[in-house]
Amino acid sequence: MQEFPRLYVGGEWVDPSSSERIDIVNAATEQVMGQVPAGGAADVDRAVAAARAACADWAATPLTERLAALGRIGEGIMARNDELAQAVVGEVGTPSMIAPMLQTGLAAVVFGDNATLAPTIEMEATVGGTLTVKEPIGVVAAITPWNFPLVQIAVKVAPALAMGCTVIVKPSEYAPLTAFMLAEIIDEAGLPPGVFNLVSGDGATAGESLVAHRDVDMVSFTGSTATGRRISSVAASTVKKVTLELGGKSPLIVLEGAPLADAVAAAVQGCYINCGQMCTASTRLLVPEAQLGEAAATAAAIAESLAVGDPAAPETVIGPLVNARQRDRVRDYIRSGIEEGATLVTGGVEPPDGLDTGYFVRPTVFSDVTMEMRIAREEIFGPVLAIIGYSDTDDAVRIANDSDYGLAAMVFGEPDEAMAVARRLRAGWLVINGADQSFTAPYGGYKQSGLGKELGVAGLEEYLEQKAIHV
Ligand code: NDP
Repeated sequence: MQEFPRLYVGGEWVDPSSSERIDIVNAATEQVMGQVPAGGAADVDRAVAAARAACADWAATPLTERLAALGRIGEGIMARNDELAQAVVGEVGTPSMIAPMLQTGLAAVVFGDNATLAPTIEMEATVGGTLTVKEPIGVVAAITPWNFPLVQIAVKVAPALAMGCTVIVKPSEYAPLTAFMLAEIIDEAGLPPGVFNLVSGDGATAGESLVAHRDVDMVSFTGSTATGRRISSVAASTVKKVTLELGGKSPLIVLEGAPLADAVAAAVQGCYINCGQMCTASTRLLVPEAQLGEAAATAAAIAESLAVGDPAAPETVIGPLVNARQRDRVRDYIRSGIEEGATLVTGGVEPPDGLDTGYFVRPTVFSDVTMEMRIAREEIFGPVLAIIGYSDTDDAVRIANDSDYGLAAMVFGEPDEAMAVARRLRAGWLVINGADQSFTAPYGGYKQSGLGKELGVAGLEEYLEQKAIHV
């Protein structure tokens, strides 16, 4: 049991305003594995006051000192990487094969990258006779989801601190353990009191109190599009800046002549990673109509070869979903795919053999999917791949762009042709032929996938205001 009875506010561990607690449930065993406070409006008030009080001094702290603090936090994460990864394996169900790198090690990389990039930002310039000055935006509320709990916090906290802002983190109630461990790391890193604060609680109370708070200058949110809409409207009453990283329904286009087996393997991997609970998951596989059968057979063979089971076991590739609600939601989508006439190639609504305990779902592949079906349009957030046939390249681009979302897209094909297609896609994160992805590039969606950027220089600049001084 990992119990964190207190909140981290103003540089110390403080008792929450109520005795209400949130149980953290292990996704594979369904047993309670931890507990954190259910913070509320009074706790938010206290954290915002602490963040506000620390604001001016932190903004005036030399950049080198702020970045040195980021370095210490990154080192602290790496020193506890195994322990952090284990917490995520339990609360999210991410396989231990990938958790230390993808779930926790990457958070340390994010702190390092922000420290490297921050000095490249030109904070002052003269335009004509006018001085333009960039300044920290102030008090930032970081509201984060459960699927990559520590990394999602890092991509907000690192740039905010680097740019001289103070932060209040509200982690997901389903996976808050690494946020508490990060607060311990930050405490040891010796940041001034109030620069980093942590208030756990549910979205409707702790989260919304932060968004509505008059003394919060900016909300940086990652989560579902539905919650993003709600946050935008609540934040509008105090006209505060909001950045949104929301859902996706990302296509992977296999162009005519591209190596089909490699592309399908990349699509399956990209769709099933973290049990499909990844916003950039390649959930729509677009192949030439004539290759639908071959693509489906290849995808099914791969899906059936993957080890599904206990995420703590070293050989497991697919663990459980995060909770019962998510499992039921994913099963409903599988049911709807069958009812709407898609061909179920492998997987289905029944739990995988021998896995009745834990929130497991069969890795599923649908073929003959059309854009009228819910499984082609809605974000499932589970291991469900939809294969869609296209007639020619224009048709592939049309289908890829026929979505309310525009987070990511992948293209396989001859490099020049793939680049030309990538330029036509309405999405923010494009990957050609499975290229390595740089986490110093700006990340953020088009359309209903979000507003604003994270990572890179653009991600840092979100935390700045700019003023013009005419002399
Ligand atoms: P939610 O939108 O349900 O929750 C995200 C966070 O917002 C949680 O901390 C939640 O609190 C909080 N919240 C909920 N309601 C409110 C509210 N009214 N006011 C303020 N805060 C609120 O998303 P999930 O946690 O279910 O995460 C999955 C979603 O996140 C997926 O749709 C996925 O696509 C998206 N996502 C997007 C990414 C991106 O970069 N674009 C990356 C990762 C995920 P609570 O603790 O109660 O849940």
